[in-house]
Amino acid sequence: MSFSELGLSAPLLAAVAKNEYAEPYPIQMAAIPAILAGKDVLGIAQTGSGKTAGFVLPILQQFQKKKVAKNRFIKALILVPTRELAVQVGAVFAAFSLDLPRPVKTLAVYGGVSINPQMMHLIGVEILVATPGRLLDLLDSKAMDLSEVDILVLDEADKMLNLGFKEEMNRILQLLPLKRQNLLFSATLGKDIDTLKEIILHDPVKIEIEQEVENLDLIKLSGYRVSEDRKGPLLRYLIKENDWKQVLVFTSSIHKADAVVHKLKTNGIKALALHSQKSQGARTEALRYLKSGEINVLVATDLASRGIDIPALPTVINYELPRSPKDFIHRIGRTGRAGVPGEAISFVSADDEHHFRVIQKKTGRWVDMIESEGFNLKGY
Ligand code: AMP
Repeated sequence: MSFSELGLSAPLLAAVAKNEYAEPYPIQMAAIPAILAGKDVLGIAQTGSGKTAGFVLPILQQFQKKKVAKNRFIKALILVPTRELAVQVGAVFAAFSLDLPRPVKTLAVYGGVSINPQMMHLIGVEILVATPGRLLDLLDSKAMDLSEVDILVLDEADKMLNLGFKEEMNRILQLLPLKRQNLLFSATLGKDIDTLKEIILHDPVKIEIEQEVENLDLIKLSGYRVSEDRKGPLLRYLIKENDWKQVLVFTSSIHKADAVVHKLKTNGIKALALHSQKSQGARTEALRYLKSGEINVLVATDLASRGIDIPALPTVINYELPRSPKDFIHRIGRTGRAGVPGEAISFVSADDEHHFRVIQKKTGRWVDMIESEGFNLKGY
């Protein structure tokens, strides 16, 4: 399925393309049409499922038809449990609303920082992402009005309740008009969420996304700090020194996959590329060759990686890091399957350091880093 089948208009589709989302994730396939149809939604999904874009895109599309709100009247309110999530959700709104014909101003507000700048930035804001405590502080100062909110999102509602925000949430709900669209996202269902959904949702569309169960405990993770120009030699050094016979390498572009394969071959290593410009026949054959040992290295892009299932694959290498933590989990999960331990190695350049920390934080897996600067890669 493609994003264009979900009912999104041309400007939103352009924003999706600009953010390089190739295909919708399952939660997006279900949530986007439901939200566009004005339905209440109960989404059972975790961070990493793509739920944020699942509500951000249809909300932005709905705003394309809305009259511009009076100053300081919030039209869509997104309640989140933590400052980190507020920043993240705010950033997704900002990324997708950049070039829309009808501009939409979004702001994220959260505690732990001075309130005054947030108050000043509220001018013209129509979509507000907020943690409950700070939202109430701002309301107490009469910095905004919630009486015209027509979309409410409770994101990570279970976490909000676990953090003890129940009373704050009730106070906020009282300030909202009764007629509105409600979207509730939670990683888990339980008694508290049941009560909440009874109060908030009307005839909701229920979307439940099963987390792909990957047993990551069997995967040894490591990372090499390496400059971009030494990645190729380092890859060949590791393959030759360790005498690896079966390696799956990931790159972020087709062009890079082909270039890495070319260099491996000219250095006497049997390798093939697997990406969307290869025919289905060529892809199946490449996989078969890696399984049978006719080649030792397969270099793949993320899109082509879905469904790669090589029993007891010992080694995965991230030659370039994936964009999303979800893809990181998906990539490394090609090894360590069926009870057989495996190793996943990431090449991290100086420019990647920050992104790699974000991936580690989001996946909750911390990686030991190895400095490769001292390696003598001459001849590789
Ligand atoms: P979320 O669960 O909303 O925090 O999203 C997890 C990650 O997946 C974020 O880094 C998003 O940028 C990324 N993401 C969400 N949807 C897509 C998609 N359709 N294609 C590629 N990446 C996506």
